[in-house]
Amino acid sequence: MRTAIVGGTVVAGDGSAPRTGAAVVLADATIEGIDARWPDGSRADVIIDATGCLVMPGLINCHTHGVTPGPLFPSAAAALPDAEWQSNLDRHLLAGTTTVLNLCGLATMAEVEAADAAHPVKVKGATSHLPSAIAAARAADGAGLRPEHAAMTAEAMVSAGAVAIGELGGGQTLGGGGQDLQYIPAAIERITATVVTAAQARAIKDAVLGPHLDRDRPDEPALAAALTDAGLAPLLDPNKAADLIRGCVLPSLHSGLAGIREGVLAAATLGVPAVVHSASASAALLRELAADKAGRRATVIAGHSNHTSFTPDEALATARDLADHGWLLECCTFDLLELRHTVTTRDHWDRLLADGDSVTLLATDYGYLGQHDPLISGVSDLVAAGHRSLGAAVAMASGNVAEAVPGLAPGAGRLAAGLAADLVIAEIDTRRMAGSRNGGTASASNAVPGRVRHVFVDGHQVVRNGSITTRSMSAGSS
Ligand SMILES: [Zn+2]
Repeated sequence: MRTAIVGGTVVAGDGSAPRTGAAVVLADATIEGIDARWPDGSRADVIIDATGCLVMPGLINCHTHGVTPGPLFPSAAAALPDAEWQSNLDRHLLAGTTTVLNLCGLATMAEVEAADAAHPVKVKGATSHLPSAIAAARAADGAGLRPEHAAMTAEAMVSAGAVAIGELGGGQTLGGGGQDLQYIPAAIERITATVVTAAQARAIKDAVLGPHLDRDRPDEPALAAALTDAGLAPLLDPNKAADLIRGCVLPSLHSGLAGIREGVLAAATLGVPAVVHSASASAALLRELAADKAGRRATVIAGHSNHTSFTPDEALATARDLADHGWLLECCTFDLLELRHTVTTRDHWDRLLADGDSVTLLATDYGYLGQHDPLISGVSDLVAAGHRSLGAAVAMASGNVAEAVPGLAPGAGRLAAGLAADLVIAEIDTRRMAGSRNGGTASASNAVPGRVRHVFVDGHQVVRNGSITTRSMSAGSS
């Protein structure tokens, strides 16, 4: 079947400038070509009018969680119910993402393949089956860890098709956001029957351990203030609170850091990239690893370089140091652009993305209960905020990602003849283009992607007018 998408502005995903009015012609599962002269006498079974829209490669997200039936997060928490990980994949697809890398690295390839088969989104696997990473998961949580997960190795996973090592470390195992969101509030609730927010948990944790988790003794005035603010002052005395925080955070911290070291070494040995959890708790180790031999031999992606456990200055200094040693920098939307449940500042994001072109990869991470701001919102924001041209911003969520993780989307990630017909058609957000700081005048190179209208995966139209047409590729439209 031949499909012609006509009248749109074509963004190739390789960083090049958009082309207005070119047709993208699909022949079954592949892109036949991009034709500037359409429709002069050409034939197609289906013609899609993309006037007022951007035609882009299906987006590729190299930092997701909760997209398989396997253990959740680097802490191997209990797996999500099927309906929930499938609805997470729905959210990715409806926002134009056609390939995701599952960074819940303790899942098996069988679980990754089950997710891949169950949904039009292409789900690829990573591995963190390393002795210390498994120990860290057990110390932080481990409720989702069954014998087959604990017995798996990174070598066997890569042989079975895992395309990366990661996520190495995480907020749950390294005393970060995962602890603030989940484990510390749960421990406090068990003792006091009081529910605290992530921000309140973080304030108590910071008072006890400091932002780098290396305090010997609590900051007593700060701890008293944090307990009062959380409504815990009469219920939890400061000594008990300090013990509780240490009990939550420290057991997994040391093995979590050792797991990062093992994973970077494994990446160098096994020849696949590693994705590391970049945050204040891991920064010193990452800088050490980037400078040593294995770290320079491996391809390493510093995940969420814009992590808010850093100050913006620390995030920038760490990122620059890692990039100087050849590591790749990735920024995550978390939920800092729209939803703002867990990340309520865009300072880190703006600081990193305004620092030349050093950040080359965009991803989402998980956000609060999977409610991250979509990858395409990150692309839109980069253009609207004037950090990147449209061509460069789209590449950060497509072509650059395919290049950084070669097994993730082979034969996809760009719009070019012979590549996979994975693509997204999004309306141009004319309101935001007018407000752009990127040169002021409206042009194709500062058009902002808006609502996603259609999505194709391997030539099947899997989203039509903003709705998923099929959950099963075998029941697809061709
Ligand atoms: Zn992370």
